[in-house]
Formats: sequence, C-alpha cells, structure tokens
Amino acid sequence: MNPFSTLGIRHDIVNAITDLGFENPTPIQEQSIPVLLSGSNDFVGLAQTGTGKTAAFGLPLLELLDFEENYPQALILCPTRELCLQITSDIKNYAKNMKNVQVVAVYGGANISDQLRQIKRGVQIVVATPGRMLDIINRKAIDFTQVQFVVLDEADEMLNMGFQEDIDSILSTTPDDKKTWLFSATMPNEVRRIAKKYMTDPFELTMGTKNTGNVNIEHEYYIVKARDKYAAFKRIVDFNPEIFGIVFCRTKIETQEIAESLMKDGYNADALHGDLSQQQRDKVMKRYRERSLQLLIATDVAARGIDVNDVTHVINYSLPDEIENYTHRSGRTGRAGKTGISIAIINSKELGKIRHIERTIGKQFTKADIPTGFDVCEKQLFALVHKVHNVEVNQDQIEQYIPRIMDEFKDLDKEEIIKRFASLEFNRFLEYYSKAPDLNVSSDDRGFERSERGDRSERPMRSGSNAGYTRLFMNLGSVDDFTRGDMLGFICNNTKISGKSVGKIDLKGVFTFFEVEDSAVNQVVEGFKSVDFQGRSVRIELAGDRDAGGGDRGGSGSYRGGGGGRREGGGGYRGGSGGGYRGGSGGGGGRREGGSSGGGFRDFSGNRREDRSGGNTGGARREGGDRRRRI
Ligand code: AMP
Repeated sequence: MNPFSTLGIRHDIVNAITDLGFENPTPIQEQSIPVLLSGSNDFVGLAQTGTGKTAAFGLPLLELLDFEENYPQALILCPTRELCLQITSDIKNYAKNMKNVQVVAVYGGANISDQLRQIKRGVQIVVATPGRMLDIINRKAIDFTQVQFVVLDEADEMLNMGFQEDIDSILSTTPDDKKTWLFSATMPNEVRRIAKKYMTDPFELTMGTKNTGNVNIEHEYYIVKARDKYAAFKRIVDFNPEIFGIVFCRTKIETQEIAESLMKDGYNADALHGDLSQQQRDKVMKRYRERSLQLLIATDVAARGIDVNDVTHVINYSLPDEIENYTHRSGRTGRAGKTGISIAIINSKELGKIRHIERTIGKQFTKADIPTGFDVCEKQLFALVHKVHNVEVNQDQIEQYIPRIMDEFKDLDKEEIIKRFASLEFNRFLEYYSKAPDLNVSSDDRGFERSERGDRSERPMRSGSNAGYTRLFMNLGSVDDFTRGDMLGFICNNTKISGKSVGKIDLKGVFTFFEVEDSAVNQVVEGFKSVDFQGRSVRIELAGDRDAGGGDRGGSGSYRGGGGGRREGGGGYRGGSGGGYRGGSGGGGGRREGGSSGGGFRDFSGNRREDRSGGNTGGARREGGDRRRRI
C-alpha cells in the first residue's frame, strides 16, 4: 500500500502526488498528516522550509474541506508573494484529480480586480499575504465567517516583516472555533506569543532540535579582511564551478552593488531587492528558477519565501543583523533531502556572531580557507577537462568540418592538441590568478602569493628580506612574460630547491627580486650559473642595496597597464563587458594586462604544479589550512 494511503490520504490525491515524485512522506508529513486529518486540533509545527510542510498541511486540507460548497473554508497566510504563488500552485497540483477545488492566490503587487473576480466566482482555499488580504477584507469583498482552518505559514517571517497587526485584524474576521495550524522555522518569543494567543492546547511538533538548521546543510565560515571580501567571495565562487547559489547582503544598496560588480566581472548574477519593481523581481526570479541565472544576490526581505530546489550554496556576504535570519537564509539550500552549504564571509571581529549562530542552530561551523589561486586554477582546469570529456558531439553537424580540422592539427600530436585545448580556457585563470594574493587572514603559508601579501599597505613597508631569508636579484622580469607563478616554477626548476624555500617574489619590469631561505642561497646561485633564457644568460646577485631605490616602477606599471597591488578587487578573469581579462572597453581597473600571455602555458609552470603535488610549494601552503575540498 502506498505510504500516503496508509496515512489516510485518498487515492486520487495519492495519484497526483505520485506524479510529482512523492513516493514516501517526509518526516514532517508522516507525523503531522494523521494529526491534522482529525481536524480537531490546533497545531504548531516547528519546521524548516524545504521539509515538505506545504503538503503536510495541504493534503489534510484537501481531505477536510467540502468542495461542493463554494465559500472560503481555509485561509493560508504566508509572508511573501513568491511563497503564496508556490503554495497555491502546489495545492492545485495535489488536487489535480479532484473536482471543483478552487484555490485563489491573494497577494500585493498584482491586479486586485482579478483576485476579486476569482473570489467572487467561488473559492474554498484562500492563500494570501497579510497586506493584500486585509485590503480585500476592508473592501468587504470576502466572507470568512465559515472558515474552519487557518494556516499561518512561516509565522516567524510574517512577524519579522511586521505583519502582527494585520494578522490580528484578519483573524478577527474568522470564527472563534476554527482550527489554527502554525508553521515556523524558528520559535522566537513573538511566535510563542501568537501561538498562545490564537490557539488552545495545540499539538506541537518539532522536527529536529528547536531552531536547529536543516541537518543536510553544512555551515562554513571564512575570515578575511573587510577590503578583501569581494575578492574572497569571487574565489569561493570560482572554486565551485557548478555553484547555483543565493548570496545574501544586508542592504539594498550592497545587493545592487555586488550584483553589478559581478555582472561586470562576467559572472552570471543578478540582484533581487525591494527597490526593483514587481515585474523586475519576477523576471529575475524566473531566470533563477530556470537556472539561466547562477547567482542570485538578494536581501533578506526579497528572498523570503524563495522556494527553489537544488540551491547548492547560500553565501552570507554579510551576516544578518538578526540571528534568526541566518536560519532562513541557510534554509534556502539543503531542500527536499538534498545537501547544501551555507557560507559566511566574515572579518575576525565577527567570530562572536558565528559562535552565537552556532548556539542558536545547534550546529558547528567549519572554518575554511579561501582557496588559493592555484586551487582555483586546478579546480577550473579539471572542470573544463570533465566538460570536454563529457560534451555531446553532434556527429551530423561536425562531420563536414572534420577533414579541415584534422588538416589544421596535422602537425600536432595528441598530447599537444589536448594541452592547447585545455590552455584555451585555463590560461585565463592562470593569468588572472598567478598574481592572486592569499586572502586568508591568519594563514602562515608561504609561496608565490607571499609577494602580494608583502605588498599590502597594512603591512610594514620593508626593503630588506624577511628573517631567515635572503633577497636575490634576477635580470628577468615581467617584460619577459613572467608571472609570479612562472617565476616560482622557473626558480625551482633550475635550482631544484623546493617551493617552500622561496619567499617573497617581487616581479618588476626588467628584473625580479625574490627571497630564498638563507640555507638555499648557494644552491640558487649555483643552479643559475649557466642558465640561458631566450638567448640571454640569467644573472643572479645578492640584492644588497640594489632595491633600496624602489625598483623599476615604470617598467612594471607601464608594461602591465595598471600596476597596483590588489588586482582582484577590480574586474575578473571571466571577462565580462567591463573590466575583464579580455581587455574590454570599460573599467580601468588593474586587471587588464598588456596581452602578452598567449601561446600556451610554459613548461616550467607545468613543472611547478608537479612540484606542488609532490609536496613542495603546494604542500607547504596546504599544511597550514584545513580547507575542505568539495565537488
Ligand atoms: P516544502 O517544504 O513544502 O516547500 O517542500 C520542499 C520541496 O520538497 C518541494 O519541492 C516539494 O515538492 C518537495 N516534496 C515535498 N514532499 C515531498 C515528498 N514526500 N517526496 C518528495 N518530495 C517532496
């Protein structure tokens, strides 16, 4: 027997929900349906969004109401238009095999006459947001005197949004002996109070611990300096090529700004906040639901009631002021049994807030490290490789071009062709990220990123080397097409020292200063004794006072077309219309390189990566961190 039938749901409804893919009841459905079907209890259900609570109250309503009559018998109040539409459509779906089930959605921002007309035609279930509902009641356009059931869905959200008084007024028009079913993700005192006020001896059901976040959600935090937040955020996104996420900001302005910067940087993102017209919001939501949008940047209020499955990540770009809101935010992922990750990007002063949230949700956060440039490159490279491997080939269409393509490639062997295809995309990441600084606040790693950290203005300026390191000079620099990553590989390759032994690398126009551990100096000088680079012999000297004058600023600045220490704050490697790597027309940030990076990646950068997996450079960087790798 179908498990929903066992719970007491009739066949035509069971058939409809089977079509929706409901095979087994979710825990909340299993526990609440039998209670609610009795129709004789008030009810409080403490449950997150995404646990199946719409069916938990929707199915019993379909069993209990008299659909031969055309007056309102059930009123469902919920905080947002999105949720209102969702509940309406869900109930209609459950009822698709039943006769004369009339459900109307009543919400603001839409034509009221249509809603009034539908109500007039006859309706048994009204799903409404409080503001518009009250408007219709005040117009005396609806009669709630025969309502038997009132559902308060996401009660905590409705209270958060200031609907307390509206709810009071609405409920005063319903009979005293109706049954009230309240659902809430959290149980702050305000919700307790309305439960007390409107209910007698309610049946209480708590899914999991009180205020506990969904068990399918993992919580992580990243500590960065405030000014590195945007760069860190992009790293996280880049490290998760398949991300389908909601990013929460604190204000409408921040939401709009982040969304615009992301779009400019070539990300597939858009904003959702209260300053947009309803039409604009609908458009954005439609794109997000259809997954033609990868990142939705939203305020708490605008994102309320968003019911999109398969959200992989919720990112708290700013932590919410109200801790309760964290639960609502994170509840947008990990829905319908799927797993999800909720990320908070914080500064070190906000750690206390994280601890507070941990206590509230009863779950621990994991501290994660912002991925390094190497990590992102590697991740993106393999995402690309998988994509190439799995791409569907349209034999019919491609066939005609194959001879010409084969001809173009005839002088290249398989390995070379693979390298070039991979480089096509990968070079962009490499180029962008080779200069990427370590954004973690308390990391003690070393490697080629160190140089950028050394450049930061908040660090004491120093012209000498760090303790235990000797500063060396080399007569090759960025004009020779070196990135810092390249340089690290070049040094390690020629001298056989480990990447761990290399400290700060200061890549200048026509020369480079780099630090190596004191013990490795001789090996480096020896190693470069007879090395040629494009016909020039490589010269290594102790830096001594060579760099006291500030180095070759002109070379670096003019050649690279921008200079400046922090590159990631501006455009992204994705190359959108503005400041992307492709050298678009707008912007003016430091990302646009002189354009000399083409031609595949160098042997020595390949070697560098090998070194790394062999435990040299990368090993050193990783040792300090506890970042968790996924996907
Ligand atoms: P809700 O909490 O009602 O918003 O439901 C979250 C998601 O879970 C929706 O997409 C539902 O369609 C889905 N869902 C609800 N109940 C079940 C079930 N018993 N089996 C499979 N999916 C379900």
